Amino acid sequence: MKGEFPVDKFHHIETPFYYYDTQLLLRTLQTINEEVAQYPNFEVHYAVKANANPKVLHLIRQADLGADCVSGGEIQAALDAGFPANKIVYAGVGKSDKEINLGLDNDIFCFNAESQAEIEVINELAKSRNKVARIALRINPDVGAHTHANITTGLAENKFGIAMNDMEPIIQQMKTMSNVEFIGLHFHIGSQILDMTDFEALCYRINELQDQLEQHHISVKNINVGGGLGIHYDCPDEQPIPDFHQYFAIYAHHLQLRKGQKLHFELGRSVVGQMGSLIARTLYIKQGNAKQFAILDAGMTDLIRPALYQAHHKIENISSDAPTETYDVVGPICESSDVFAKSIELNKTKRGDLIAIRSAGAYGEIMASQYNCRKLPIGYLTEDL
Ligand code: PLP
Repeated sequence: MKGEFPVDKFHHIETPFYYYDTQLLLRTLQTINEEVAQYPNFEVHYAVKANANPKVLHLIRQADLGADCVSGGEIQAALDAGFPANKIVYAGVGKSDKEINLGLDNDIFCFNAESQAEIEVINELAKSRNKVARIALRINPDVGAHTHANITTGLAENKFGIAMNDMEPIIQQMKTMSNVEFIGLHFHIGSQILDMTDFEALCYRINELQDQLEQHHISVKNINVGGGLGIHYDCPDEQPIPDFHQYFAIYAHHLQLRKGQKLHFELGRSVVGQMGSLIARTLYIKQGNAKQFAILDAGMTDLIRPALYQAHHKIENISSDAPTETYDVVGPICESSDVFAKSIELNKTKRGDLIAIRSAGAYGEIMASQYNCRKLPIGYLTEDL
C-alpha cells in the first residue's frame, strides 16, 4: 500500500522538503485526548525535541498538551507557540545557567533535575531571584528497553538521571535547601519502544521506589514516565496512529498511583512521527557493478536517522506505478553513510521523480544540518501548499 499525497501541489515546491499531513496530526492528537480523558490524573506533554516546527507546535498546543523541553531554545519555542509556562517541564543533563534562568523567569512547572550538582545551581539561581523552583528528580531506573542501543536511556551505564540509591539522600538534602521544592520523580527509559512489557517493567520499578520512599515518609506529588512509545516504520498507512489505548492502559493497570498523584507523559515520536514525509527528487540513476543506485537530492543532512541509528524508513516513488526494480537509495552528501536504504524495491524511477521517505515527522526536520553548506529543508503543512 502506498501513501496518498497531493503530488500535483508538490511539483511547484523546491525539493527536498518535509510534508506534514495536518489531518493525521489532528486525528492523532484527538486519539490521545480521547484516551487520556478516561484517566483524569494523567497529563500529556509533547516532547518538543521530536519536531519544533512552529506550525506543528501551534496545533499541538491547541490540543491542550503540555510541553517537554530539553534546552532553553525549546522552552522559548514552546512559549512562542503559546504553551502555558505551567505546563512546561524541562529535562537535560547539562542545563546552563542561562537556560535555568529562562525557566525560572517564566515560572515553568518543573525542572527534571539530573544531578546533585545541578540542584545546587538551581537553588542558588532561584535564591538570587527570590523564587522557589519546583524540581522532579530524574531517576535512572536501570530498566532496559528493547530498542536501538543509541536510544536507550534508562540503563545504569547511560549518562542520564540519578542512580536509584542516591535518590533518597538527595531528596533529604533538598529539604534543607530554601529555594527548591521536591515535587516528583521523572523517568525515561528510551525511544521507539514497541515491546509494551518494557513500560510494564518501568511501572514495577516505580512501584518499588515509591514503597521505599514511603518507608522514609517521603511523598511524591508527581510521577513522570517520559516518552518512548514507538511507531511502525514499515507500515505508516496501515498503522498511522500508535496504540495509545494499550499504552495508557498499561500505566493505568500496573502503576500504583497514590491518592492525588499526577502521572505525566512526554510523548514525542508517537505524536508526530507518522504525519511527516521527506519529499525528494531522483537526480540520477547509476548502475554500479553490483548495484543500482537511485541518487536523491535529499541526504543525511535532511534526515539523519538512517545514518545515525541505521533506522529504516519506508521509501516510495510517488510519481510512478511502473514495475519495481531494486535500488540502493542514497543522498548526495560526501559521506559513505549517506544511504537511506539498501536493496529495496521501488517503482522504477527516473530523473525528476518525486520520492517520499515516510514516517519522518519525528527527529527529521529538527535534526537537519547544513553540512556541505546545504540549505535546511522547509516543513510544509497540508494547508501551506
Ligand atoms: N522525554 C525525554 C527525557 C527524552 O529524552 C525523550 C526522547 O529522547 C522524550 C521524552 C521523547 O521520547 P519519544 O519521542 O520516544 O516519545
